Amino acid sequence: MTTGEPPASIAALEGFGGLDDLHALIDTVPDAMVVIDTEGKVLSFSKGASRMFGYAEADVIGENISMLMPSPDRERHDRYISRYLETGERRIIGIGRVTTARARDGSTFPVDLSVSELMVGSGRVFTGFIRDLTGNRQTEQQMHSLLAELAQVSRISAMGTLATSIAHELNQPLTAITNYVEAARDLLDDPTPENLGYLREALSESAAETLRAGQIVQRLRNFISRGDAVREFGSLTRLVKEASALALINGDGRDVDFDAVLDPHLDRVLVDAVQIQQVLVNLIRNALEAMKDSPIKQLTIASQPFGDDMVQVSVSDSGPGLDKHVAERLFHPFVSTKASGMGLGLSICQTIINAHDGQIWARPSDLGGTEFCFTLIGAGAEDE
Ligand code: ADP
Repeated sequence: MTTGEPPASIAALEGFGGLDDLHALIDTVPDAMVVIDTEGKVLSFSKGASRMFGYAEADVIGENISMLMPSPDRERHDRYISRYLETGERRIIGIGRVTTARARDGSTFPVDLSVSELMVGSGRVFTGFIRDLTGNRQTEQQMHSLLAELAQVSRISAMGTLATSIAHELNQPLTAITNYVEAARDLLDDPTPENLGYLREALSESAAETLRAGQIVQRLRNFISRGDAVREFGSLTRLVKEASALALINGDGRDVDFDAVLDPHLDRVLVDAVQIQQVLVNLIRNALEAMKDSPIKQLTIASQPFGDDMVQVSVSDSGPGLDKHVAERLFHPFVSTKASGMGLGLSICQTIINAHDGQIWARPSDLGGTEFCFTLIGAGAEDE
């Protein structure tokens, strides 16, 4: 059973082996499964959930599900449910998202949450499947393949270092060419047969050096381009899920209240998935680093329409905001306030977004820190 699978098979299983068997089956699932009623009260808490949250079943049954969430979801969850019951507007049910959960010891951790709704008699219940993103082996495997892909793009980050050595390498043939050409010019002053021989030699040497310089430039081009960038329509939710899981893993997301509020109507975007993941990972990592010493750590990724057929994605944090000097030259390469920062992340983000025909900018966030926004071509453009 996968996390995203609604327990539609449960009804069939009930007839098959009875509810006890069903419970036994659910308890074998490593992910956590929690069932709540429409008031948020916990009706069922699987063994996987006990392991993940550190609570015994008896501690949780009958309690409000919000005890498993950090603030501000903790205080707001009742409202989330009543808003859904009133409006029928789905923000998480059937969609799923990466969010933050809270264990018994108060620690928080990133999770992938899928919620489905189940009608039982005349009432209804909500079933949540929760996968811990910090230690999950399957996630690790996914991360591995993602990292391999991302490595391609981080080659671009290495470009800064590479550019210096390329400049150095190019200097050698250029100096040689200058010397040969100057010698050839001087030899023309005394065009004896012997000197004409030297002249021919000088010119063919400078031609060879010019070819060498061309090869160095070609190497740089190949290094950056990684073949052809492929732009296809893909799911923004998926990109955000994968990028946030990647950025929040290794405990970097601990104690951070992470939320993704993505408009399901704006899900399709025209992207080179690997490159846009790199942009998201850069922005999320920057936000996490900015909030390192902040007492309240909130990170929200949201989407909204932009113009006729663009989608605006924003990454907001509750950190200290932008340094005044950095703000003026934010997207320039080598601008950094970090001791070991290269100052290349944002300039790479800008290069990628511009290549996607979008824009990127920063402004103060409602959460108190910085909000980075970028635009992508949305599905509206697909029908044209
Ligand atoms: P680096 O992270 O290597 O410094 P970046 O280009 O990613 O390079 O960022 C440049 C600078 O922009 C950072 O050093 C930091 O001062 C500032 N910055 C980026 N993101 C944020 C953020 N979310 N909050 C505050 N400052 C930020």
